Amino acid sequence: MISRDEILARDRAHVFHPYAAVDDVERRAPLVVREAEGPWLVDADGRRFLDGNSSWYVAALGHRHPRLVARLAEQARELAHCAFAGITHEPGVLLAEELLAVAPPGLSRVFYTDNGSTAIEVALRIALQAFRRWGKPEKKRFLALDGAFHGDTLGAASLGGVEIFRRPFAGLMLDCVHADLPADGEPDGEGHVRAFRALTDLIAREASTLAAVVVEPVVQATAGMRLYDPRLLVELRRACDEHDVLFVVDEVFSGYGRTGKMWALDHAGVSPDLMCVGKAFSAILPMGATLANARLADAFRGGREHALLYGHTFCGNPLGAAVAREVLAIYRDEAVVHGAERRGRIVTEAFARIAKIPGVARVRSLGMIGAADLTPRGASRGYLGERGWEVYDQALARGAYLRPLGDTVYVTPPLNMKESELEELLAILEASVAAVSG
Ligand SMILES: *Cc1c(COP(=O)(O)O)cnc(C)c1O
Repeated sequence: MISRDEILARDRAHVFHPYAAVDDVERRAPLVVREAEGPWLVDADGRRFLDGNSSWYVAALGHRHPRLVARLAEQARELAHCAFAGITHEPGVLLAEELLAVAPPGLSRVFYTDNGSTAIEVALRIALQAFRRWGKPEKKRFLALDGAFHGDTLGAASLGGVEIFRRPFAGLMLDCVHADLPADGEPDGEGHVRAFRALTDLIAREASTLAAVVVEPVVQATAGMRLYDPRLLVELRRACDEHDVLFVVDEVFSGYGRTGKMWALDHAGVSPDLMCVGKAFSAILPMGATLANARLADAFRGGREHALLYGHTFCGNPLGAAVAREVLAIYRDEAVVHGAERRGRIVTEAFARIAKIPGVARVRSLGMIGAADLTPRGASRGYLGERGWEVYDQALARGAYLRPLGDTVYVTPPLNMKESELEELLAILEASVAAVSG
């Protein structure tokens, strides 16, 4: 085993990290994690940190869930990988059935990918190819929301509404319309009603060239856990139906109980034409899926020339499929979504306390999501803000990993965390925010 310092030295020499400048590791050394269990990350020196964001929202069931580890090992002994082209297998078929059984009504077919971005990418391709088949090739633009994040392929990033992520690729992206949401993070009646109207008017105006509206339902994670009124989704569904525009929901972050319901879309009670899942979907492995309704699937019938010309090498990987089935079984057996809804009250209470700390501008919470915006200091704001990183350093010293979004600090912990551990995480956040306030 090589030492922490040696890992860091070699990391500095050779590794490109995501969402980081190459020399960021010199300014703030990354945590060198050796193992993880439940909500805990354990570093190379044996120090334990509560995983405040479930490792980028993946570990909804915590780390090293014994049933997932066992299922993975069992599947690996039988079939670790085979192509999904001209081949099928039991885990892939049963996962599709089981996923559709818990998905919003109307979805009837599953396309597998290996992450959330490509789950979005294939949704865009399906929409574009379907409108060509339906004799409306001019419908090839997408509408997304201000503040949106849908992943990092060029297609998915085209939908992104966080300007700083788009800037380096200006001029190279798909043609998208970005629609405003009320600037304030709090769902509030009047502002939202006005925004709904502006949005549905925009869809009506652009409909002749729009293929789809793509949204993160209810909560925009990367925008800083920004929440909006679920009634917007009802309005969007209606406007899409009226103007022959597809309604695509991105549940990569919000699905699997994060908001206190299985799908964030359940807060609105509507069904999409396409739905994308990832992250908690397979909980320990890179895997994503795009669910489509029958009308869309039927657009790809009728011979080779109508094939969906899209696929990834690891699509339908049996390890991922077997583990994703086990995830769903654990959700059933351990009533994970109900638990998340119940624990959400603890999160809400903690953020109500955090709201009173000087230097906290605003808080919000929903299910197992809580976020606080700190008043910016100096010129850097938003995603480039530094306030969250001040809290990050404080929290690390107190035993929690709380990666911020610029000036916004948040928790999105494992859904099945013990209440005592959740209280501990929230207490660390509260103390850390208080330590940097003023
Ligand atoms: C993370 C995320 C994605 C992209 O998923 P990757 O697995 O990182 O490619 C897409 N949409 C949302 C809402 C996400 O949070």
